Amino acid sequence: MEQIQGLSSLAGAFQEHMAEKRKFQAIKGTRDLLPLETELWNRVEQTAREVFGTFGFGEIRLPIFEPTELFARSIGTDTDVVAKEMYSFEDYDTSEILELLESRKAALTWVDSPVSPPYGPMGAGAQAIFQPLGSVIGNVVRLGLDAYQRGRIPRTPENERLLADLKDGIGTFVGSINSRSMGENRQAVNGLKGLVGQLRFGDSLCLRPEVTASVCRAYIEHNMHALAQPVKLYCIGPMFRRERPQKGRYRQFYQIDVEVLEAITPNTDATKSLGKDAAVDAEVIEMVMVYFARLGLEGVQLDINSIGHSAPDCRRGYVEKLKAELEKVKDKLGADSRRRIETNPLRVLDSKLESEQAIIEKLPRIGDHLCADCAKHYAEVKRQLDLRGVAYHENWRLVRGLDYYMRTTFEITARGLGSQNAVCGGGRYDGLVELLGGPPTRGIGFAIGEDRVILSLLETGHSPLATRHSPLLYIAWMGEKTLATAIRAARDLRQAGFRVELPPVEQKFSKALGQADKLGARYALILGEDEVASGEWTLKTLADGTQGKYSEEGLMEFLRKTRPS
Ligand code: ATP
Ligand code: MG
Repeated sequence: MEQIQGLSSLAGAFQEHMAEKRKFQAIKGTRDLLPLETELWNRVEQTAREVFGTFGFGEIRLPIFEPTELFARSIGTDTDVVAKEMYSFEDYDTSEILELLESRKAALTWVDSPVSPPYGPMGAGAQAIFQPLGSVIGNVVRLGLDAYQRGRIPRTPENERLLADLKDGIGTFVGSINSRSMGENRQAVNGLKGLVGQLRFGDSLCLRPEVTASVCRAYIEHNMHALAQPVKLYCIGPMFRRERPQKGRYRQFYQIDVEVLEAITPNTDATKSLGKDAAVDAEVIEMVMVYFARLGLEGVQLDINSIGHSAPDCRRGYVEKLKAELEKVKDKLGADSRRRIETNPLRVLDSKLESEQAIIEKLPRIGDHLCADCAKHYAEVKRQLDLRGVAYHENWRLVRGLDYYMRTTFEITARGLGSQNAVCGGGRYDGLVELLGGPPTRGIGFAIGEDRVILSLLETGHSPLATRHSPLLYIAWMGEKTLATAIRAARDLRQAGFRVELPPVEQKFSKALGQADKLGARYALILGEDEVASGEWTLKTLADGTQGKYSEEGLMEFLRKTRPS
């Protein structure tokens, strides 16, 4: 017996040890960006700030989580992003509804456990099996009503209805356990669990899958329509989508997002504003092309299209025609496209499926169905792009995945990315601000996939500048008495902007030089007691081993003159 106890405590200790050694890893679809690579990220972001600044854009920083409804309303509930890819969660104060949370868990995980499953109406035996659920759900109702009254769970009509239905539901359930078969009782249990599952204990929030809707929210919240129009903003940061991770596709990825918003003043000349919008669209596109050129991104191709506006004589009419044509060829389409005929027929045009390509080529084209204004706007965008010397491909199959776009849509692809080669997507979204509760507003914007831009740069030979990280100067100090001088030298040199490495403990001369070499330092500053006493410091150039003597000031001057660019 003792032996067994000894063994089991040994096993316990082993388990504890293993738990301690558990390795944590970045969550699937997320990644760590390490020094050297981050140099490139910083350059990409810094260049964006510089280029966008010259076009009059200002930076906006926004929260990473927002109400789920903001995206559901703007992006559209039928889109992949909202239907499948959002990281959303209920937000509540756990300490306020602890018991309620436990009662919900108890209800949702409750299972009947009969000794032997009876068939047919169960009579009194059923009571013993199913009665306990009555009290489990009774707790949810009691605690739920209390929390509802105190405002600790959202006081929505749905919650009120669910609590009332549950209250009635358990009464009926408990009263008729005996007269039901096992299967019928189980069905009733599932019905009650379903109601419990629908109760909302907090506001639904989500990690942002994109940022246009957030920018619009902020535009409304801060009354930006009262500022000089248009308001030009950019935002850099992470986005979250639960997609299948692969090259160029992550669950946390980064976008550089640009938006131009302009309040619509009543009674403006429609023709004039068409021309103005087209110029704004073209300038925004010109800006991103200038930016990519400045980065040295290779194989950049701009595709443009107009998807008209939502009216019977424009896109809606076209979509009806498209739907009718798709119905005719339905049998030859894959499952995804077949489903999209109903939910989002424009997205069928996006299909990459080989077998569908010939069919899609014969479908009606939106360009032939634009209303007069949208056609005029599109023609003007192209004229404006020509004026700016921006080369483009017209691509009638270019539609955007998000619902809010209208008229101008565009996408930019680059080299080295395989099938995930879109580095930027954008378009016009007049009406989105209004849809989110703001004043009538026009909008155009784009989002650059920063991860893919970096990948493309790396694939085409833009290596991160490794040397930028190495110290310029390594301080090889020897003897405790020199430490104070070494610390002061490091401080003064760093203040002057030089990269300096100060070893925390004294090192032997050869070890110090070895370390300086390993770090890629250009110079070693040798500080021994003699140097400190004489005020003449020795500077060794590591590449060729040459040495020079400098006073403190002389050293500063020498380094300033040879400052690496
Ligand atoms: P894709 O067709 O590649 O899925 P998308 O239409 O979903 O793109 P948008 O919502 O328009 O993309 O986002 C703009 C840009 O953000 C894309 O062109 C791409 O560069 C980048 N992007 C989108 N999703 C991801 C992701 N999961 N990982 C990395 N980058 C992404
Ligand atoms: Mg996508």
